[in-house]
This record gives sequence, C-alpha cells and structure tokens, in this order.
Amino acid sequence: MIYALVGNQNSGKTTLFNALTGSNQHVGNFPGVTVEQKYGIIKGTNYQVVDLPGIYSIRPYSNEEIITRDFILKNNPDAIINIVDAMNIERNLYLTLQLLELRKPTVVALNMMDEVRANNGSINIELLSDLLGVPVVPISAIKEEGISELIRVVEETAKKKRIPKIYDFCKPGPVHRCIHAISHIVEDHADEADVSARYATMQIILDDQNIMDLLKLDENKIEIIKSHVEEMENERGLDCEAAIADMRYKFIENVCNQAVSKPEKSKERTRSVNIDKILTHKYFAIPIFAIIITTIFWITFGPLGTFLADNFEIIIDSGIDIVNAFLTDYGINEIVKSLIVDGILAGVGSVLSFLPLILILFFFLSILEDTGYMARIAFVMDKLLRKIGLSGKSIVPFLIGFGCTVPAVMATRTLPSERDRKLTILLVPFMSCTAKIPIYAFFTDYFFVEHKALIMTGLYFGGIITAVIISTIFNKIAFKGNPIPFVMEMPNYRLPGIKSVILLMWDKAKDFIQRAFTIIVSATILVWFLQSFDLRFNVVEDASLSILGSLGKLMEPIFKPLGFGDYRFVTALVTGLIAKETVVSTLEVLIPTGITTLLTTASALSFLTFTLLYTPCFAAIAAIRREMGSAVKTIGIVIFQIAVAWVVAFTVYQIAGVFI
Ligand code: GDP
Ligand code: MG
Repeated sequence: MIYALVGNQNSGKTTLFNALTGSNQHVGNFPGVTVEQKYGIIKGTNYQVVDLPGIYSIRPYSNEEIITRDFILKNNPDAIINIVDAMNIERNLYLTLQLLELRKPTVVALNMMDEVRANNGSINIELLSDLLGVPVVPISAIKEEGISELIRVVEETAKKKRIPKIYDFCKPGPVHRCIHAISHIVEDHADEADVSARYATMQIILDDQNIMDLLKLDENKIEIIKSHVEEMENERGLDCEAAIADMRYKFIENVCNQAVSKPEKSKERTRSVNIDKILTHKYFAIPIFAIIITTIFWITFGPLGTFLADNFEIIIDSGIDIVNAFLTDYGINEIVKSLIVDGILAGVGSVLSFLPLILILFFFLSILEDTGYMARIAFVMDKLLRKIGLSGKSIVPFLIGFGCTVPAVMATRTLPSERDRKLTILLVPFMSCTAKIPIYAFFTDYFFVEHKALIMTGLYFGGIITAVIISTIFNKIAFKGNPIPFVMEMPNYRLPGIKSVILLMWDKAKDFIQRAFTIIVSATILVWFLQSFDLRFNVVEDASLSILGSLGKLMEPIFKPLGFGDYRFVTALVTGLIAKETVVSTLEVLIPTGITTLLTTASALSFLTFTLLYTPCFAAIAAIRREMGSAVKTIGIVIFQIAVAWVVAFTVYQIAGVFI
C-alpha cells in the first residue's frame, strides 16, 4: 500500500514523514523545501508513504502543484493523508476541499495541535470530521503525538477504500447550478477517464486544458459548458475563479465557526512580527541584507575559507603523492600511471579542493534558511527583481550561484513557475562562481597588480549587469508574461537547529562529492586522453601536437577577434569546461614561461570577460540538463552563453583597445 502526504507548504509534512518513517529528511523553515517526492516505509509496517511538495491548491500553477497533482491522479495512492496546519486552519482547508473532490480515500491529519493548545485554542475534532465527511486525527508531528492513531485510521480508510462522504460544498445558487449542469455533461467522460466527475467539473470551470484533453470532450459540449460558465459569471457578478473561491471559503467559514475556537496569536508570531519591523523595514531591509551577505562571503572566501581550502588541498596533494609513489614503486606502465595520477586524481582533486568553501557557504545559507531569514530576503528582493521580470524567490539561486552554479541550478526547483525557473536557470551561470577565482587571481597577478580589487569587483558586477540586461531583454521577447505573484508564507523566526543545518550541509556535500566522482572523473579521463595522444593515437610529448592541441588550433580563428587567438588559450578554455580551475592548470602546463608575452592588457581583460560569462562547467551543464529536462534546450543554453561571452568579450576588447 502507498500513502501520499499532501498539504500546504510549511504545514509539517516532512516532520510527519520523518515521524512516520523514522528517517531524517531535511525539515526546512523555508516554504518550498521539499521539491522532489521522497519515499519511505512506515515504521513497523510495510506501507509506503510519499512526502510530496507543499501546495495551496491543485490548480496547476507551479511545478510543485503539477508534481503533486500528477502523483495523486496517476499513481493512485491507496490513501491521501492531508496534513492541515491547525494554527492556520482556514487557509489549509482550502486545499482539503479540493482533495475531497477527488473522491479518494482521505484522512485529515490535524497538525500543530501542541501549538493550538499552548495558545488556548481548541478544536472539536468529531464535529470537524462530521462537517468535512472524512476522518480527522489530531496530531503533533514534532512531538510525535497521535502518530499511531493516525496510522491506524489511515490503514482502515485505505483498506475499506472509504471515500469522503461530502464533496458538494455549494449552497443553492448560480454556482451550484453551474457545477451540477456541467457535472452531468462530463460524468460519462470522467468515468471513462477514471477521474472524479466533481473534480473534473471544477477544473473545467477553471479552464484547465489538461483535464479537457483527458476527457476528450467534443466541440459541442465545450460550447455548452462555456455558456454555463458565462451565465454563472454574469449572475454571480464575479469571474469563475473568484466565484469558486468564494464558495469554498464560505463553506470553510461555516465549518470553522462551528468546530474551531481560535487560538490566540502565538508568542512566536508576535516575536517574529517585531523582528520583521526591523529586518523587512522599508529602508533598512536591503542594507541589512547586504551587510549579512557580504559578511558571509567574506568569511567563506576570505581568511577562514582560504585557510581551510589551502590545508585541504595539501591533504589531497599528499594523498595523490602517496598513490604516485606507490604506482612508481610498483612499476606500473607510464601511460596508465599518467592516466591515474595526471588525469583522474588531479582532476578530481582540483574539484574536491573546493569542498571546504562549499561546506562553509552552505553552512551559512542553511542557517539563513533555518532561522526564517531567507524567506524575508525573497520578500524584500521581490520588488527589485520584478522590475527585470523575475520574482523574489530567484534571489536564492542567484546567491548560491556566487558559490557554485550546480547547487544554484538545483535550487531553482523551489521557484513557483516554470517560466521563472527557466529564466533563472538561464541567468544563474552569469553569477561568477568560486571556481573562477583562481583564474582571476592568476591573471591579475600578471596584468593588474595595482588594480586587483578593482578588476575583481568589476568582474562580479559585470556578471550581474549582464544578467540584468539579458533578463530585461528576454522578458520582452522570449519569456513574455509576468512572474507569478509572490505568495509565500513568512515562517516564524527561530534559532537554527544544529541537526537540520548539518543535515542540509551534508545533503549538498554529498551531491558535490558524488558529482566529483562521476561526471568529473569521466570528463577528466576524456581530456587526459585528448591531451596525451595525437590524431594517430601516438603518445605526444608536446601538447600542441595532441588531439586537444589540434582542436584548439582549429578554433583559433573564432577567438582572434577577441585578442587571444592562440591555441593554448583556446585549449585552456576548453579544459575549463571540466572545472574552471583547470583553465589555470592548463595554462601553466602549456605556457611554462608565463603569459605576459602572449597577451596585451586589453586581451587579458577580454579573456577574463570571456571566462566570466561562458558556460561554467560540465557539472553545471549536467545540472541544467537535469532541471530543464531537455538536451536540446540545454545545448541551446550552452550556445547562448558562449555567444553572450563572445559578444561581451569582443566589446570589452574593442573598448579597452582604445583606452589602454
Ligand atoms: P513542510 O514544508 O510541510 O514539509 O513542513 P516541515 O515539516 O518542513 O515543517 C515546517 C515547520 O513546522 C518546521 O519548522 C517544523 O519544525 C514545524 N512543525 C512541524 N510539525 C509541528 C508540530 O506538530 N508542532 C509544532 N509546533 N511545529 C511543527
Ligand atoms: Mg517538506
């Protein structure tokens, strides 16, 4: 048997999931943390339970809603556990009503009862259950109260396939008439498609194309349905969406008036409201945010991060040395040794050496999330980002993007709409990631000794400005329409929990390490191969004769206009696709005498600009591919990024040529 956990964001789904299964999923204080469905086995049984993303409605506006709806409709769980936040019962029941319309075995788990009690509220469970027509079980997921009762009731409901008793939430009137008229029309079609007629009716009234296709309604019937909806809208004086929402809220209001004695505003809420007076203040909010973020970056990339990264690198290097010595002793074939040491270990090592930075960055970001501040950042940035066609939630991926593009692209999953998500994925790579820092350092050491900080800052802002310009343009042409309105619950502030911070950090680290050992290993082997052999598969001493060298030479003309049309720089850019740091190591191998003689100041600037903007690395491409779900679009994005990098670098080169 399989149960689905469905509920609003932040209603405690993941906490309940953990209580049911005894697992350790990350519990967030940031709405939209659960973006993938997670499976688990309920303790002491062999029933499966799925933690689905939080939603407010089954109207598929966002990714999360689509995932959840599809799961319920297609996978047909044996029971739906609808988790309801008893502290916000009215809003939560809005989703409940829609779930009841699906006419599948459902149990309401009334969560956060500990808080209701602590704030002198009470709920008449039996009456609530009668009014809703489904079993209601009061629980506190966090205190693990009522869990066994819940399991018992759900099991019974699932076994007896007990469907909700009530699904008609309307009082006689135009809406009622409209629903029933359409219901008659679609009944047979719905039966055939195996969905509830009531659910299908509601979706059709709201003009859900998906369900219309599913039901295979003919033109004629669609016409009749449309006229019913129009009549209802006219009589009711509201558009269909508002009319339906009004009907549902009236029903909820009636239920709550009878069964719920409202809790007082909780102390936590009052405290949060007070803190928010400062942190989301009209004028102070953005400066405070800037200070916090600068401090985090300073600690991560400044003294602490550098110290840890350097030492970690020493450990990695000595590990590689040991393997090297062992293989030499063993007398292994030189080529094989070169593959293992110079290829795989060097490649994986250079990527792993960033682990400390990533861990520190995620440590702080987890704290921001867990305290509830991240949700406020999104809220505060919403106004600014809206101007360039994005929504406030995009700020999180962008911030993470300054660390590493890969987790940033993954973080876009929490965005509410497909449009916002794609646009954000497209722009995230322009945020200069940490792996590019070695390149900037390397070049500024040669060319801009006096103006290091200026160049660094310029590059970071260059990336941001490029993203702003592109977003503005795309908003006008390719991604028309508006970002989804900002609906996000502000969770209460709380002290960060050590357990959840460590869990979140470990989650990211695991991902990163896994990548290092899969994608990066294969990519490194490929580059090692291309670098070590010529076109006739003879081992080459001189890298310029290798396959990679020949490829680089082939591409020289493309980069001539940018001022660095030398195969060695081109090759470095190609190897940079494995991981940006390799640009530096490749240049060091290919040009032992130093790069000063080969570049002018202007072409160095142009090279830096190009590295700032072109495709980050294979790992990032793989992440984009995964999130976009389409290889063609991914290739499109890569080409687009390279084109942007080329155009901007060209412009920089021309302008710099005039002044320098
Ligand atoms: P989800 O977004 O629905 O998965 O919600 P989470 O499980 O991540 O929980 C959201 C927040 O509610 C977290 O801060 C939890 O600690 C808190 N929470 C969950 N269940 C309870 C409960 O029964 N009582 C109280 N007081 N807080 C809870
Ligand atoms: Mg969750």
